[in-house]
Amino acid sequence: MDPHILILGAPGAGKGTQSDRIVSEFGVEHVTTGDALRSNKEMDIGHLDLEYDTPGEYMDRGELVPDVVVNEIVDKALSEADGYVLDGYPRNLEQAETLSEMTDLDAVLYLDVDEDVLVDRLTGRRVCEECGATYHVDFNPPEEEGVCDECGGDLYQREDDTEETARERIRVYEENTQPVVEFYDDEGRLVRIDGEQTPDEVWDDVRDAIEANA
Ligand code: ADP
Ligand code: ZN
Repeated sequence: MDPHILILGAPGAGKGTQSDRIVSEFGVEHVTTGDALRSNKEMDIGHLDLEYDTPGEYMDRGELVPDVVVNEIVDKALSEADGYVLDGYPRNLEQAETLSEMTDLDAVLYLDVDEDVLVDRLTGRRVCEECGATYHVDFNPPEEEGVCDECGGDLYQREDDTEETARERIRVYEENTQPVVEFYDDEGRLVRIDGEQTPDEVWDDVRDAIEANA
């Protein structure tokens, strides 16, 4: 079984945490736009007739990569994966419509979490600089402070995980991505999961939803 899974939720809802578990349990690939962009920096996008000929030129200048480029890269990453859990895309309704032309989804999961809980999670989040594993200083601390349990790498705090930036990211998310949640809900495909439970409890619901739908 190679399930095609989409995981939706605000920043801090637990997408990365649950995606890691989905990858171990179901043997699929974790596809995020950030990673997909980083591994396709040199891809030739000359045919799109944009300002630059590779995604890397936008990224190295700190410019936003245009939607058409992101769409192509996600398409490529999904077609190269046997099964996947897609995280961080689609961010708006237009991308959701593009996605339905690219691939068929087996399960669409939405991790539902209130804003104040999201802010607490984001400000306490720590990420391994070697393997990307995610921790929380209170809710999911590593065995040894500042050190990754998985690989021994150093943990760091993302620059955008301050309270002010977190609230702004959540606001932007609500504005752009809530319509995406409604889009799948209207299709009757959305599985709403209470993301305020413990990581293990959320995982029970996530696994059940995948097994029921894939
Ligand atoms: P996202 O990928 O949706 O932005 P993450 O998986 O990175 O979210 O989780 C955000 C933060 O919240 C991390 O520090 C993570 O350890 C913590 N976290 C994730 N799931 C839970 C949970 N169910 N309960 C408490 N903390 C959680
Ligand atoms: Zn690590």
